[in-house]
Amino acid sequence: VLRPVVRLSDVVNRLAAQDYGVEPPTYEDVDEIGDMAQAIRVFRENGIERQRLEAVQEAERASRALLARMTQRMQGCDTLDALTDVVRRFVPEIVPGFAGRLYVLDPDSNRLEETGNWLDPQHSGRAFSTLDCWALRRGLPHRPAGETIDVPCTHLDLNGADELPDTLCLPLIAQRQTLGLIYFESRKARGEQRFPENYLQMLSENIGLALSNLRLRERLQAMALTDSLTGLSNRRNFEEELPLSLAKAEREADVLSFLMLDIDHFKRINDGFGHEAGDAVLRAIGTALRQALREDTRIFRYGGEEFLVMLPGTDSAQAMERAEDLRARIASLEILHHGEPLGPVTVSIGLATTPDHCPPAKLLRTADAALYRAKDLGRNRVEVAQPRKDERRAT
Ligand code: GH3
Ligand code: MG
Ligand code: MG
Repeated sequence: VLRPVVRLSDVVNRLAAQDYGVEPPTYEDVDEIGDMAQAIRVFRENGIERQRLEAVQEAERASRALLARMTQRMQGCDTLDALTDVVRRFVPEIVPGFAGRLYVLDPDSNRLEETGNWLDPQHSGRAFSTLDCWALRRGLPHRPAGETIDVPCTHLDLNGADELPDTLCLPLIAQRQTLGLIYFESRKARGEQRFPENYLQMLSENIGLALSNLRLRERLQAMALTDSLTGLSNRRNFEEELPLSLAKAEREADVLSFLMLDIDHFKRINDGFGHEAGDAVLRAIGTALRQALREDTRIFRYGGEEFLVMLPGTDSAQAMERAEDLRARIASLEILHHGEPLGPVTVSIGLATTPDHCPPAKLLRTADAALYRAKDLGRNRVEVAQPRKDERRAT
């Protein structure tokens, strides 16, 4: 009697220490020892099952904690690059073993462009049209090699493979707007790896929201820096860019010219034709400036009827040509308001170049002084700032 009891007691001790590797003995006899052995076996199986469930729960907890942290980090991102970086770091941890790409939709071209990837995905290109993806067409997750048969998206590169790779496309949608796509592919043979669908759903929702926040922030920022009447950059934008452009010119020892434009007798237009007509003139001049200058030239609506043009790398003589061209173009504009011609509108322009006319810090004031001279000398003309007399003038 003693031997089986000692054996069983040893097993119980090991089970109590959570050592489930121990194999409880079986005693076929239907007696107390046999019952005890059977009870211990059940006890062990329950212990193993509990341990398994705990491990699953622990993994879930860890994934949820990661997902929460990722969402929080995404909310702090103010650029697409930063957001992509968060996605690339967290996603392979949350859904391990799946390669993937993050795409953002360019609404103008209706194309998806990759912003980042992880674990070297093989089957989907870096850019494609929204029409190439069933997930985007339907606004739903799409997994062609899933449990039920489905058509593969045309952005998938199947490399002549016999078998469809296990891929999943999840559209990124927020406020009913498609913003992008997150793509996954299994790195293992088909059927060996399951997509954790619930996490993926949460992931795509959170990334979609973060993208939407980012877009909103960008739009608000653009609005805050743009003059709504002319669409040009506004005074606030100018104040932000002025120190940067001056510092750049100084650092690169390069010339920088400013043109300060002011509409002549603008008050008369307002008084004679009304404020709306004045607005039409401002818009027409804004458009003319944009059309005359290179797309990357910074043009600002500096004040009510004053504009400022920054010409980096442009010396005084070249800037003079530009200014004269702008003056002539504006003088020849035929601006209509409610079908009525408003008559010719002219501008006066002050031109200053650093370092020729002044140090960078005085460039704005110097251009303004030249503009005043242009007004004094009869308007509809360009005046260049006086050459610098001081001995420290750079060459
Ligand atoms: P000058 O040739 O000396 O520059 O004369 P001016 O009449 O152009 O100059 P002034 O500074 O006396 O008048 C500028 C006018 O511009 C006054 C203001 O009411 C008007 N103005 C400023 N902003 C706007 C705007 O957004 N829309 C309209 N319609 N008028 C504006
Ligand atoms: Mg003025
Ligand atoms: Mg004026």
